Amino acid sequence: MLKICADIGGTKTIVGLINDQLEIIESRKFETFKEDPIQEFTEIINIAKYYTNHFENVDQISLNIAMPGPCDYTQGLFLNPPNLQTYNGFNAGEYIENQSTFEPYFVNDTDAAILAEYQYIKHQTENFIYLTISTGVGMAFVRKGELISGVDGNLGEVGHTIIKNDSDYQCPVCKQYGCVENEISGLAISRKASAILNRQVSTKEAIEIYVKGSQSEVTAMIEEVLTLTQQLCTNLFSIFNVNDIVLGGGVTQSALPYKTSIEAYAEQHYLIPNSTLKVKISDLDANVLTGLYYINE
Ligand SMILES: [Zn+2]
Repeated sequence: MLKICADIGGTKTIVGLINDQLEIIESRKFETFKEDPIQEFTEIINIAKYYTNHFENVDQISLNIAMPGPCDYTQGLFLNPPNLQTYNGFNAGEYIENQSTFEPYFVNDTDAAILAEYQYIKHQTENFIYLTISTGVGMAFVRKGELISGVDGNLGEVGHTIIKNDSDYQCPVCKQYGCVENEISGLAISRKASAILNRQVSTKEAIEIYVKGSQSEVTAMIEEVLTLTQQLCTNLFSIFNVNDIVLGGGVTQSALPYKTSIEAYAEQHYLIPNSTLKVKISDLDANVLTGLYYINE
């Protein structure tokens, strides 16, 4: 059975047909209608209807959707998404049920991603954390093989928890200084490198400069980003009492030594002696879209 899954991102939306092997059988991509949630969900419904009419063996009822938070995921209500401010207060669940025969299920993107990752790590553990570091930072938790998503699906909003007390950068979203997203994300690396070199520097270029070792201030800045990431992961090992973290997101696919440096730091500072704390770098493409297959199993 194929399921219709949609991943709404800040810039693009993908609607795909996914099978239980986490393969994308068909997909359509469009620019997210940032100013108009009605247009956005109308487009998603239209693609979904096309799939039910033109493909065999498609689940005709389920429409599984990952969308940026914070939302009340139990009903599909947008609460205050930083990149989709015009969606504030829009109830996607109501809209889809009124405009179609689909039954929508909503999750945040990291919750979808961890379900895809779980299919590949379950021979090793049933308890782990998924941490994504890309433009932003997000987290999800699987315990005893089950997704734990909190009272309204927002468990793991680590992006706006404080990691650097003496930071002088105020977050435009949460208004605090030194929150995770503004200290260790890809966007943060780019912002910090741009300030050092006094020109626009992409995340990719900043990491290349670090790898070359040609600019001491950039080296020190990225060393600090790595230390903060090690501390965040050690916090997560302790708070959730897990031995495994899977790291996803574009920045973790770079040459930065996330796996070895986090494991080494955690081994040194984790309180329970002789624990085997493991970090795995995700090797899945499109884990958000494909993981949606499993949200209503
Ligand atoms: Zn913040």
